[in-house]
Amino acid sequence: MSLIFDVPQPSVAIAGREERYPVRRIYCVGRNYAEHAREMGHDPDRDPPFFFMKPADAVVPSGSDIPYPPSTSNLHYEMELVVAIGRGGEGISQQDANDHIWGYAVGIDLTRRDLQVEAKNMGRPWDSGKGFDASAPISALHAAADIGHPTSGRIWLAVNDEIKQDSDIAKLIWNIPETIEHLSGLYTLEPGDLIYTGTPAGVGPVVAGDTITGGVDGVDSLEIRIT
Ligand code: MN
Repeated sequence: MSLIFDVPQPSVAIAGREERYPVRRIYCVGRNYAEHAREMGHDPDRDPPFFFMKPADAVVPSGSDIPYPPSTSNLHYEMELVVAIGRGGEGISQQDANDHIWGYAVGIDLTRRDLQVEAKNMGRPWDSGKGFDASAPISALHAAADIGHPTSGRIWLAVNDEIKQDSDIAKLIWNIPETIEHLSGLYTLEPGDLIYTGTPAGVGPVVAGDTITGGVDGVDSLEIRIT
């Protein structure tokens, strides 16, 4: 087979390895920490989790300068634990979910909040608010074989060294196995699928010149600069 264009395969660095993790899809979980659901004006009862997607080529590595994106005046950070699928499947039970996980990273679900709010108000899709270029900064990946399957640990984010988000991944409304059970009931998961698992409270805007740092204890940290 020959292709009429060369299209780069998006990928993520793997800590301590030359090989990289190819990205097929990026799934994101909405409202997965109660305090964040409340700050967005929702009651965090255990409604089933819901998902949205970003394009695979939205990943950008830690250390990147990211241009302030167009068509927004309210760019928000959302610090998240990221799961990387290593074995595919559909209808995966939460009991089996860890067997499908290759590893973990930390990432930021950059959000054009003004466009997302407008989409919500108009009953329109979230794509323009969530799935834009460079909207998925991510650290290196760490194999579950090396770090295990984290179920607790501080999740934090700072803007210009001022702490804005400070919680614990133990507070996820839908934990990782539950999330994989729900997601794999909607889509066949495959190696190369990333899951951004949701953000704790404290989201807010950044402007050009801001440096964003954040991480999950026991996983990794990252840093990006908005230019
Ligand atoms: Mn998010």
